[in-house]
Amino acid sequence: MKIIMLGAPGAGKGTQAKMIAGKYNIPHISTGDIFRANIKEKTELGLEAKKYMDQGLLVPDELTVKILLDRVAKDDCANGYVLDGFPRTIPQAEVLDEAVSKLNDNIDYAVNVDVKDENIVRRMSGRRACLKCGATYHVEHIPPKKEGICDVCGSELVLRDDDKPETVEKRLKVYHDQTQPLIDYYNKKGILKEVDGSQDMKDVFNAIVTILGE
Ligand code: ADP
Ligand code: AMP
Repeated sequence: MKIIMLGAPGAGKGTQAKMIAGKYNIPHISTGDIFRANIKEKTELGLEAKKYMDQGLLVPDELTVKILLDRVAKDDCANGYVLDGFPRTIPQAEVLDEAVSKLNDNIDYAVNVDVKDENIVRRMSGRRACLKCGATYHVEHIPPKKEGICDVCGSELVLRDDDKPETVEKRLKVYHDQTQPLIDYYNKKGILKEVDGSQDMKDVFNAIVTILGE
């Protein structure tokens, strides 16, 4: 099963994608996580991506598409994957379509996690991320067992640089301008599924399972 998660930054794509990956036994692929891992390791890709991420801008398509295509070509993707944060532009979606159709395959579902902008700002200022294993928490809604420490790997949790309020506003604008058109793109392809992302995370997940099947 090949699934794309759509939605504004902070809508809960990553939270749901991890749960989907667990239930359906497919890899969770987050381009944001790949960039953050590269920033941490100070690779050339990381240094380049950071310039854009820190400003709330999208990393250029040429760079992003290459890392995504390399990742989905790996053996663990043979039975599908859940993409979180890719595609974010129409050209990215077109490249993905072309790559998948070359394999005589198709994307099964594009799940749009819908959350209003007012709630997004609250979600992102409360998000705490583990840069080691990619786990995410929310200080109020989904707190870690021990404050500031990742439940999964014990590393320190941080407020991402790009989750600071001034950058969040910019990211939302970029989302509306460049990423939201993908809703229409996948609707026209007949694979768009909408879920109300403002519910409790378990209810959001139940709605997704109803769409994807048990
Ligand atoms: P995205 O991957 O879309 O950027 P995340 O999955 O990281 O978003 O979620 C953003 C923040 O909101 C995180 O702090 C996460 O713990 C929290 N969150 C996710 N889903 C919900 C939900 N249904 N209700 C409340 N908070 C949520
Ligand atoms: P995320 O973790 O998905 O919120 O992504 C964090 C940041 O990484 C984004 O604000 C972008 O700067 C960059 N990024 C992640 N995925 C993409 C993508 N598909 N296209 C361009 N930039 C991306």
